[in-house]
Formats: sequence, structure tokens, C-alpha cells
Amino acid sequence: MAQSNPSIVILGGGFGGLYTVLRLSQFPWPQGRPSITLVDQHSRFVFLPLLYELVTRELETWEIAPPFSSLLANTSIQFRQDRVERIDLAQQQVALHSGETLDYGYLVLALGGETPLDLVPGAAEYAVPFRSVDDAHRLTARLSQLETSAQESIRVVVAGAGPSGVELACKLADRLGDRGRIRLIDRNDSILKQSPSFNRTSAQKALDNRGIWIDLDTALKQVTADSVVLNYKGQDDTIGADLVLWTVGNAIAQPIQDLPVAHTAGGRIPTTATLQLAEYPHIFALGDVADSVDANQAQVPATAQAALQQSSCAAWNIWALINHRSLLPFRYTHLGEMLTLGTETAALAGLGVTLDGPLASVARRLVYLTRMPTLDHQVKVGLNWVVKPFLEALQPK
Ligand SMILES: Cc1cc2nc3c(=O)[nH]c(=O)nc-3n(C[C@H](O)[C@H](O)[C@H](O)COP(=O)(O)OP(=O)(O)OC[C@H]3O[C@@H](n4cnc5c(N)ncnc54)[C@H](O)[C@@H]3O)c2cc1C
Repeated sequence: MAQSNPSIVILGGGFGGLYTVLRLSQFPWPQGRPSITLVDQHSRFVFLPLLYELVTRELETWEIAPPFSSLLANTSIQFRQDRVERIDLAQQQVALHSGETLDYGYLVLALGGETPLDLVPGAAEYAVPFRSVDDAHRLTARLSQLETSAQESIRVVVAGAGPSGVELACKLADRLGDRGRIRLIDRNDSILKQSPSFNRTSAQKALDNRGIWIDLDTALKQVTADSVVLNYKGQDDTIGADLVLWTVGNAIAQPIQDLPVAHTAGGRIPTTATLQLAEYPHIFALGDVADSVDANQAQVPATAQAALQQSSCAAWNIWALINHRSLLPFRYTHLGEMLTLGTETAALAGLGVTLDGPLASVARRLVYLTRMPTLDHQVKVGLNWVVKPFLEALQPK
């Protein structure tokens, strides 16, 4: 398989894919630099854990979604903005929406997930997902429209009381203030089922303080233009809604679902501990599309922190494969969980530390700053965070 000048193609420029190419671009290539191509349907990387901050205008789009062109400016990586349609394992080719095909020697699958809007009738037409910059802009446009309307209260329903639903509900409550009537719906019997108890308690307090209604053991059955149908203990109830946010589910990107390999529950693809596909050792999978058990037999979660850690391992292993060195098994380190719980407030629990309130919000921002791709972007964003409060103070009131 190893060629003198192999081509490496990385599909998906999120936490798994982008950080893999950035790592690969830093390695020495004594046998000659391979051609490395990153493919993403969008022109920008999105730092998803900070997407909520666009709703409250705490951050600007350029800070959390830098263009690939600037992130890869000083590297030899080629970026292709295109949609991946199909992967031909036999021909080692990727078919793109534009009609072009890319040949690969080594392939990285990092296309992530999508929010499924086909789980209940009406969701695709009337509910707003929250997974991309376009989603966030669509949401803020709708909020601005409602805020400038004559109506006294603004009724928002958030489907799903996992991290995304809870964080979004708190941000929306802070943005809408007294006019907001926010309802968080979940079919489970508690919020944040997977979170550490400290974060769950802090989140519960944050929701209560903001007057957010929580409907547990409740299924959202249908969405219409101005209402939702809820089902609690077998009883249907229709309530009015000006805006419905959908945060439930994680569907694997279609080209991955279509791959003729074994899939596990949810359509993810199993990998070896070295993040390779067992039958295709020149193909790596990471992030949300991968179902991986690490070297310590721990199930790797579908999170940004796991994808980011996997990117270093995948990059090393591709380099090692090409340069006839030993591959390393992936070892996942769980660093904890951080939640934003409104404007400039957060909760975090991890590595023996628990913290909530404004200090946790500052800590969360600083941790994320160090995780942003490229030093150049970190410096631009960090400087903006230092300078912005002074500039705002100078603005005429
Ligand atoms: C709102 C939100 C907040 C989150 N907060 C946290 C958090 O606080 N902490 C945490 O650990 N995790 C968080 N997550 C989860 C985390 O973001 C994901 O687990 C992580 O992004 C997975 O990385 P990935 O590389 O697999 O996929 P992604 O980062 O989603 O990247 C996939 C990329 O593939 C591209 N793509 C998809 N399909 C195609 C196609 N057909 N053709 C071309 N390109 C395509 C997409 O445009 C995207 O850029 C959050 C998720 C969301 C939605």
C-alpha cells in the first residue's frame, strides 16, 4: 500500500478531520511530502461548543468559525469545498457533488453527525436544528423578528434536555429576558442524563432561576407552524409555540451510512484501537462517525474532546503507516464536562475540579481558546477578548 508519494484525503473538516490535517502538516516527511486534501461542504470550521454564544451575541461568527482558507494558509494542505456523495472502497475514490472524483491512498472518515429532523411529523418543516453557523444565524434572525414584533411574550419550545437543549434554553432565556416563555421537553425522567451530578445540579438551578418550564417523561409528538403536540402519560396536549428548537438525536453523515461495511447501532463504523477499519487498514475513522473502543477497553464517546484526541492518534498512525513505523493504539482521557448556563455563566466538572458561575465561564472560555485550531487564530481571538471590553466602554451610550 505505501507509495513513494501517497495521497491522503480527509473527509470532514470538524474536530476530527481539521485537527488531523493540521497535525499531518507539522510532521517531517523524509520520503517526500504526500499530497494532503481536506474536503468539507462548508467554507468554515465550526467550534461547536461555542455556537451558543452567537445566540447571545457574546461572540462573533469569525471567532468560532474561521475559514479553512485562513487556517490552512501556511500549510501545503489543499482544501476542497464540496459535498462528499459516495466513497468507492474498491476503486479507492471519493465522488463529490461537483462531479469530480478524488483518488486516495489513505483516507480519513470524519464527516460527523447531523441532527435528524425526521423523528416526528412537522419537525423538518417547522423546527430549527442547532448544529451549524447557518442554523445559529437562522435562529437569531427568527429571534430578532419576534423581538421586534408587537407580541407581549415569545413562546419557545426546546426539544431535548441533553447538554445542547439545556445550554440553548439558558442562552435563549437570557436573550429574551421577561418576554421569554421557554419550555424544555424530554422523554427521560431527568435532565442531562449523562452529565456529572455537579453539572446537573448547577444546570437545574440555572433553569429554575430563569423560570424555564421543564416537561420530563414527555414526548414531543408533532410540530406545526405555531404549536407542538406533547404526550405525557398517554395524554396529548397541544401548546402554542412561536419557535421550536430541535436538539434530539445524532444521525451519522449519509456517505458513511452508505458504506458497504459493518455498522453498529446508530450507523457508526467500528474501528480497531488504532482507529483503522479492520478490513481496510489504510482507512481511518474518528469523531462522531466512529464506534471505537480504546486501548483500555473504554468506549470512546461522540464528543469534541474525544475527536480532538483521536486526531493526534490518527495523524501519527497515518504517518507511521507511510514511514514503516509502529502504529499506536488510541487512549482516551476523559477531561470532564463544561456547560454554558446563560450569559457569562457556566458549570464545569472534571479532573477532580467542580466550579460554577462567572468564574467557570471564564475558565471554560480560556480552555476553549487553547483548543482552537492554529496559534494564529488563538492569538486573534484572545486579543479580541482582551480589547473588546475597552472598545465597548468607549462606545457612546
Ligand atoms: C451545538 C453543539 C455543542 C456541542 N458542545 C460540545 C461540548 O461542549 N463538548 C464536546 O466535547 N462536544 C460537544 N459537541 C459535540 C461535538 O461537537 C462533536 O462530537 C464533534 O464535533 C465531532 O467531531 P467530528 O469531527 O466527528 O464532526 P464535526 O465536528 O461535526 O465535523 C464534521 C464535518 O464534516 C462536514 N461534513 C459532513 N457531511 C459532509 C459531506 N457529505 N460532505 C462534506 N463535508 C461534510 C461538516 O460540514 C463538518 O465540518 C457539541 C455539538 C453540538 C452540535
